[in-house]
Amino acid sequence: MNNNEMLLLKLGEVVLKGLNRHSFEDKLVNNVRRRMKNCGSFQIYIRQSTIYVEPQSENCDMEGAYQAAKQIFGIVTVARAVPCEKTIDAIVETAKTYLAGEFANARTFKVESKRADKHFYLNSIQISQEVGGLLAEAFPDVAVDVHDPDLTVHVEIREKYAYVHAPSVAGAGGLPIGMGGHAVSLLSGGLDSPVSSYMIARRGVILDMVHFVSPPYTSQQAQDKVMELAQILTTYCGRMIVHIIPFTEIQEEIRKNCPEEYFTLIMRRFMMRLAEAVAVKAGASALVTGESLGQVASQTIKALGVTEDVTHLPVLRPLIGSDKVEIIRTAREIGTYDTSILPYEDCCTVFTPRHPATRPVLEDVVKAESVLDIDGLVEKALAGETWVRLKPNM
Ligand code: ATP
Ligand code: MG
Repeated sequence: MNNNEMLLLKLGEVVLKGLNRHSFEDKLVNNVRRRMKNCGSFQIYIRQSTIYVEPQSENCDMEGAYQAAKQIFGIVTVARAVPCEKTIDAIVETAKTYLAGEFANARTFKVESKRADKHFYLNSIQISQEVGGLLAEAFPDVAVDVHDPDLTVHVEIREKYAYVHAPSVAGAGGLPIGMGGHAVSLLSGGLDSPVSSYMIARRGVILDMVHFVSPPYTSQQAQDKVMELAQILTTYCGRMIVHIIPFTEIQEEIRKNCPEEYFTLIMRRFMMRLAEAVAVKAGASALVTGESLGQVASQTIKALGVTEDVTHLPVLRPLIGSDKVEIIRTAREIGTYDTSILPYEDCCTVFTPRHPATRPVLEDVVKAESVLDIDGLVEKALAGETWVRLKPNM
């Protein structure tokens, strides 16, 4: 590792129509600053669609900063790089020492150059030729191959310095958190809702989580599992509040008083009402669920219509067209899979009807639930709300 090593973070989607570029950049730089705090003292600034993250002391955790950078929405590529003087000699020397390990493992290489400083006396092709020629001499066992090299050495000539780095890796993409407004996500312990939360956060949306618990039918372990999922999501979403809402009485009342075929639908309508109340209080303007068309009886088109009928807020369902395999793939990528498959009961799985209605008629469901004291039950559940504040661990 080199003492001067720093990170270059390239921005995505800056040319979005209707969105303000400056606000995009300001949000993103602030998000990067906040995330890097745990890794030490860094100077962080933006030039020409690149965020520079420069350690200000010896004890900065560069590996931690690198890993964190890959999880920040709005960044498309991340590279570890070393700055040097803007001369061919300095660039070659830097590449020789900084990338010695990479050269030892490669049989072929090429140099790719970018000249952001148009005043530099060579153009990008000439820079690549010069640097490539000298590196080929320095590493006689590694041949130049411009088509399919094992190693690509990147050289960027920027305002103050030249930067040398090996290939950049993909960042998290999407839009900076804070650009997309604020929503409340319904988080269960399953596979789907952590993925749907991730997908909406990736569009720049600040999320509050709502989780419904039904003790003693659901266990403390089930709740801990959801808190663990939320904690994993903070690595992408940043700080968040998890609202925990008691749901036992509502479920018991439904079971006692409503036709069995509508248990799940009526329960889901209560979830929407409660989530909407949380959203209104939090100043959020949409709800997010992990529903996927046809996955279960309560996720047919008709059932979804009956469910969302009780809320005025848009219900965002990013997984609506996803297959389970795709959802599982994303869950693995974002690190929620192993926790999601832990076997604890969710409140949705207690009191499930044997023959749920798959083509419910709204009026029938409304009539079936009208025997309940809906407002009273909602009010009581909200009165029992507790909440936990989470922030990223690293
Ligand atoms: P998941 O894998 O997210 O649990 P699922 O396939 O099990 O979803 P359901 O149990 O019908 O489907 O739940 C549909 C959606 O309702 C979930 O994706 C989630 O957004 C919300 N939800 C379900 N149970 C809860 C809960 N206990 N607390 C908060 N939200 C919930
Ligand atoms: Mg579930």
